[in-house]
Amino acid sequence: MTTAFYFDERCFWHGGGNYAFTLPTGGLVQPIPGGLPENPETKRRLKNLIEVTGLSRHLSMQGAEAATDAELRRVHPESYLAAFKAMSDAGGGELGLRAPFGKGGYEIAALSAGLATAGLRAVLRDEVQNAYALSRPPGHHCTADYPNGFCLLNNIAVAIRAAQADNLMRRVAIVDWDVHHGNGTEAIFWEDPEVLTISLHQDRNYPLDTGGVEAVGAGAGRGFNINLPLPPGAGHNGYLRAMERVVLPALDRFQPEVIIVACGFDAAAVDPLGRMLCTAETFRTLTRMAMEAAERLCDGRLLLVHEGGYSEVYVPFCGHAVLEELSGAPVSAPDPLAATLEKRQPDARFDAFVTAWIDDAAQALGL
Ligand code: ZN
Repeated sequence: MTTAFYFDERCFWHGGGNYAFTLPTGGLVQPIPGGLPENPETKRRLKNLIEVTGLSRHLSMQGAEAATDAELRRVHPESYLAAFKAMSDAGGGELGLRAPFGKGGYEIAALSAGLATAGLRAVLRDEVQNAYALSRPPGHHCTADYPNGFCLLNNIAVAIRAAQADNLMRRVAIVDWDVHHGNGTEAIFWEDPEVLTISLHQDRNYPLDTGGVEAVGAGAGRGFNINLPLPPGAGHNGYLRAMERVVLPALDRFQPEVIIVACGFDAAAVDPLGRMLCTAETFRTLTRMAMEAAERLCDGRLLLVHEGGYSEVYVPFCGHAVLEELSGAPVSAPDPLAATLEKRQPDARFDAFVTAWIDDAAQALGL
């Protein structure tokens, strides 16, 4: 059994908008090369690194078809898809908040969702042990009809609805360890008791008005949405504690048929859009914990879908560690920042504060 890696060069061609970092250019804001922090290099360099080390030769390297209109319509209303397609055909633009796209952006976004969808199908059909989809643009901020935070279609939601329509599964758990709140995924599955959504994120980062521990879903979905906001500065130990105290007990209670990780690398210590202190070793350990949970609960069925992560230099090393762990391949890419970032981890006093914070949240969540 292998680990499949889904990618497509065209996903690296997505772009658009006149931004300098997260600010629209104009007035006193000078344009910068590269524009938004969500630029192709953070992802392309991960694919390059696994080729350079030879890890790619231990993976099943796969492409995929774009998600079909019928697949997209299971999550996104026709009105949004039509507006997106029309603007994309006309040269690009922006329909929400900080989610610009260029000409053909619609097709690239559908392809990004298609990578996640193909990965989920392969995992559920037991064609592979687990899979990683290098989706771009990312998906977890996009609601059914409001693109935001660089996300234009909700890739994971499209994949889930496709797999359910194929009768491949019903119950799925999403573990979102991107540093930002998975507000789009939360909104889409808000009343759905078959989809457990768990988001670990930096408290009051993005979006500013969602992600509180009190947001637990509604109707039949009440209790199936879990938010664990973490204090800025939490690091390796804090994230492991969050998994042990909240994520793993919630997964055990829910008993999913498959686990999907919304895998952002922006909780890394050098990320420009987060204020956390995770390292490549943190992401490797989180992956191992997710794999063990999947082994225990659902025959190891696990899909990781790439979300954020904005350090062009460090994301590839974090992603490499994750893929080493997923595949068990004897190929390594030693973390060049390991020694420095180890020294920057919170001290025992701050770790105790984070532990108490997580314990409080777990208690509020009944875990
Ligand atoms: Zn993010």
